Amino acid sequence: MRRGSRQLKSILNYIDGQFVRGKREFADLNPADGSVIAQVAEADQGLVDDAVRAARKALRGEWGRWGIRERATRLHKVADAIETRFDCFVAAEVADTGKPVELASKLDVPRAAANFRVFADVIKTAGMESFQTETPDGKNALNYAVRKPLGVIGIITPWNLPLLLLTWKVAPALACGNTVVVKPSEETPATATLLAEVMKEAGIPDGVYNVVHGFGPNSAGEFLTQHPDVNAVTFTGESQTGAAIMKTVAASVKPVSFELGGKNAALVFADCDFEEAVNGISEAVFLNTGQVCLCTERVYVERAIFEKFVGALKRKAESLRVGSPLEKTTDLGPLISSQHREKVLSYFRLAREEGAEVVTGGGVPEFGNVLDKGFYVQPTIYTGLPESARCVKEEIFGPVCHVAPFDTEEEAVSMANDTKYGLAASIWTTNLKRGHRVAQQMNVGITWVNCWFLRDLRTPFGGTGLSGIGREGGMHSLNFYSELNNICIRL
Ligand code: NAD
Repeated sequence: MRRGSRQLKSILNYIDGQFVRGKREFADLNPADGSVIAQVAEADQGLVDDAVRAARKALRGEWGRWGIRERATRLHKVADAIETRFDCFVAAEVADTGKPVELASKLDVPRAAANFRVFADVIKTAGMESFQTETPDGKNALNYAVRKPLGVIGIITPWNLPLLLLTWKVAPALACGNTVVVKPSEETPATATLLAEVMKEAGIPDGVYNVVHGFGPNSAGEFLTQHPDVNAVTFTGESQTGAAIMKTVAASVKPVSFELGGKNAALVFADCDFEEAVNGISEAVFLNTGQVCLCTERVYVERAIFEKFVGALKRKAESLRVGSPLEKTTDLGPLISSQHREKVLSYFRLAREEGAEVVTGGGVPEFGNVLDKGFYVQPTIYTGLPESARCVKEEIFGPVCHVAPFDTEEEAVSMANDTKYGLAASIWTTNLKRGHRVAQQMNVGITWVNCWFLRDLRTPFGGTGLSGIGREGGMHSLNFYSELNNICIRL
């Protein structure tokens, strides 16, 4: 079929149980070859108002009357329905992001289903505080807290793990009885709309889950965050965007939960299991083409094994297959957009200007086919930069790391902590005492020892400094998405 003669797919807003067009549309591109895969309906201020109104109305409907057991049952149905449509979700996610089909099948889509199951189960078993309070007259009082929904939650998410990160917020918000208006990234709108179909099939009442598509400033993102009838905003994305949203919501003093950027360090000690460390760091640097907030961009290696480690990581990086996301053997797909590739390439140029030695990569791969129209870069490793270099300080968000040597544990800890971010760290050592000692000194939300990206969804997840505000996961999510009302009874 000739290009242009094909009917393009439409990705619509979902408001009050209806799929809705907007006055304007924008193109959804496949980053693997730059082709247009769909036209997306942009929500203007009027549609965002409609979505918030629908969400507020749904709080007063059957959803608001259901108890925890009924809500949890529905959330399990949502998880089941995601699995029934597993291949559709994988295809949509791969087309939007360019991530390898293997990755979407093993990580993104299974985790989306798991998010609904975990939070359905956590809410069912969550207890509440209760205190018997002694009073001077000896009659005493009983205090107990009840959990109530916050109301309408505005959810704004990025493009790197679109469905995974969206459901990480939607599932606990719904488990707590809220209704939501979600604004997925303009780069990856497909799976949020697909999830709307699943919500309908699973019997989630109209208005409980709404989707508005669009951009940030002066578009759906900003219309949602500044909306007076939105009770809380939860956001994952860049630190600068978090700062802008914080200003917007300040006027109405809304609670915010922010999962932001990172410049994560890995500390590799000479006593590590060498092969495990090389494989682990390679995954931590290059998974999802380096586009995971938890990815490692700074690697510190004890001097005794520095040269050997750099050589082994170089061989590993050069063995990774960069290519079509649809090939099962592909390790790395493209970056998300030409704009993001330009940003990553600007850091590649900057690294050279700052005096880096290029161990491998630093450019754009050539395929000799349609993939040359995609937004690919090579897996890249640098050494030789001072700790003050911008490439060591700023988040690049691509398949790239800088490797530097250290001499003592104290020096390694101090270099790892010398950042304005504070999301994640990993430590590679077979010395148990050192593992605990160093892990506890990391100024981050999550430290892994001899592993990376191993997640138990009940544990606290979040960052310090520029990496965010608050914690999500298990009870931490429930506490953000609930209003606690303490009741004090004089006995
Ligand atoms: P981004 O901040 O550019 O965009 C994220 C979302 O915010 C998009 O939906 C966008 O449309 C919206 N947005 C932008 N400006 C807005 C505004 N003024 N008001 C309201 N909404 C606005 O982030 P991105 O480029 O999509 O994602 C990559 C970033 O996300 C990286 O910095 C990465 O580290 C971070 N991230 C963090 C985590 C975490 O858990 N800490 C997870 C994934 C990604």
